[in-house]
Amino acid sequence: MNINKTELWFITGSQHLYGAETLKQVDADSKTIARALDRSGEIPVRVVFKPVLTTADAITSICLEANNSPVCAGLIAWMHTFSPAKMWISGLKRLDKPLLHFHTQFNRDIPWSEIDMDFMNLNQSAHGDREFGFICSRLRLERKVVVGHWQDSEVLSAIGVWTRAAMAALDARTLKIARFGDNMRDVAVTEGNKVSAQLKLDYQVHGFGVGDLTDAVSKVSGRQISELVKQYGDDYKAPAKVLSAPAIKEAARIEAGMRAFLEGGSFRAFTTNFEDLHGLVQLPGLAVQRLMADGYGFGAEGDWKTAALVRSMKVMGEGLKGGTSFMEDYTYHLDPKNMAVLGAHMLEVCPSIAAGRPALEVHPLGIGGKADPARLVFKARPGKALAASMVEMGDRFRLIVNTMKVVDCPPMPKLTVASVLWKPDPDLKTAATAWIYAGGAHHTSFSQALNAEHLADFAAMTSAEFVLIDGKCETEQFKKELRWNELFYHLNMGL
Ligand code: MN
Repeated sequence: MNINKTELWFITGSQHLYGAETLKQVDADSKTIARALDRSGEIPVRVVFKPVLTTADAITSICLEANNSPVCAGLIAWMHTFSPAKMWISGLKRLDKPLLHFHTQFNRDIPWSEIDMDFMNLNQSAHGDREFGFICSRLRLERKVVVGHWQDSEVLSAIGVWTRAAMAALDARTLKIARFGDNMRDVAVTEGNKVSAQLKLDYQVHGFGVGDLTDAVSKVSGRQISELVKQYGDDYKAPAKVLSAPAIKEAARIEAGMRAFLEGGSFRAFTTNFEDLHGLVQLPGLAVQRLMADGYGFGAEGDWKTAALVRSMKVMGEGLKGGTSFMEDYTYHLDPKNMAVLGAHMLEVCPSIAAGRPALEVHPLGIGGKADPARLVFKARPGKALAASMVEMGDRFRLIVNTMKVVDCPPMPKLTVASVLWKPDPDLKTAATAWIYAGGAHHTSFSQALNAEHLADFAAMTSAEFVLIDGKCETEQFKKELRWNELFYHLNMGL
């Protein structure tokens, strides 16, 4: 995603009642705040000041302009003065970009010895933003409210989190997912309604026969292969003996072919299915790992929802410390004093989460019936992380998030895939109980770059239900939340 070209528009509401002089000050103050947001390291995109809005026509125009702009990720709205909110109805009901209501005030402190009615008439957001809040609520408008002074670091950080979710929502508008083969036969959770996905999440899911991929793979030249193999030697721990193995050349051929196919069709996420690899010599492991590291979303076994989520989370995490990967809850350590989850997959874990330099290896794979595939082997960095799963509930999408701590893993000399050992919040028993009640998938998007608020903001923007399993999760309360949500989404859908 081109972050340098992505914009947030800073809009300020007012009215003509106060006269030209006050409006001039409103304009100058808004410019100052917009510039401060633009310069903040917390907000990764450009923040663009828009002239102060004093009429219904101007408000409607800016909302329509935002809708049409391919670079505008959302609006930040602030009422410096009172701005009668009937003026906002026409614009807000047409707005289909994310909205952040920034409840701030230009002056942090009340100037006790100086304050007079002129100050009071200029600094009215304490009541002006309530009028704006009412109309947003009356319109049932999904938005984020952030409260506090515009120079406060906590406030800037909250706006930054929302901005990252808005970047992912903008990216999703044009997100095309290529599926090589269908879903793994008989698997339920990786299925779902693709028309609903496009209606609600904007995801375009395109199916291809694996022959379309093998066609692209067959066109890869010897030079492309040798250049890639050289790159592998630079990027990973790989002895000459491994680098010269035919399996590595084959992996490079698959990578170059996949890359060409995805670039040719402007796809930013993709799936594979080990049941459907006709014409491919080995399961794409290394290729998938390297493509994920370059920002592509991925889901195994035809899991297009997870592929899209991995992509969206990579966009949200752009430039942040820590990576994001496709993941699966694989095996448990159920020692009551030290319960943990071992996350891994057959091969496809993204090296962006690796602690240290990954090792390039070739080993047999007991599943899929193909030649020994190349893969990167590594462990994830210890520290805070989360896993997210998007499931389809029939009438809506549900985003389930579990926060966790990645811990050091004892040596596993015979396990030759990338893996992560973690302790879920609040504990494995509660987390797994809640996850299973929520219907969370075995596949997830795992991230060490994001926190739960990024995902909550993203869910709100995409009308997905959001449930969080964190340190405060309590099973009975969580079950009730799920039941209440059923009711809400049922009624919210209308007829
Ligand atoms: Mn799987």
